[in-house]
Amino acid sequence: MNTSFLYHELGLKSLRYVGCERHKGRSIVKTESKHRMLCCPKCGGKRLIKNGTRTRDFHCVPIGRRPVSIRVRLQRYKCKECDYDAQEPIPFANGSCGYTHRFASYVLDLLRIGTIKDVAALVCQLGYCQRYTQTPPQTQVLSAYNKGSQAHWHR
Ligand SMILES: [Zn+2]
Repeated sequence: MNTSFLYHELGLKSLRYVGCERHKGRSIVKTESKHRMLCCPKCGGKRLIKNGTRTRDFHCVPIGRRPVSIRVRLQRYKCKECDYDAQEPIPFANGSCGYTHRFASYVLDLLRIGTIKDVAALVCQLGYCQRYTQTPPQTQVLSAYNKGSQAHWHR
């Protein structure tokens, strides 16, 4: 995987590839912004300084059946000429959403061929729901069934 893959396959045009790790069946792609803000978006001043970073994870479209998260290190900026103090804009997601525009489009495309319940089940089975990543729903049902039959056996 590289920056070109992020651009062409995942639709992340503003990010640079830093690394990738796999954790509990999930691919986590580590990235950072390609561009540095040079002037203040509020007053246009040039005295913009870096003011710490924040790391955020976003759901991205799966590769095959493997869920993918984009981990972005976002830079905060502070203007010395006005009161501007904010993190860099995120062009591939809305506000505080934890998923990319491309992931939202993927889910909407799935809704054209399935019900909300079916799509939710598929997205959870792919590993995008935290509560299903450790124990798949089928395993939970089987475990509950086995506990019930053992309790019946010992009565
Ligand atoms: Zn400013």
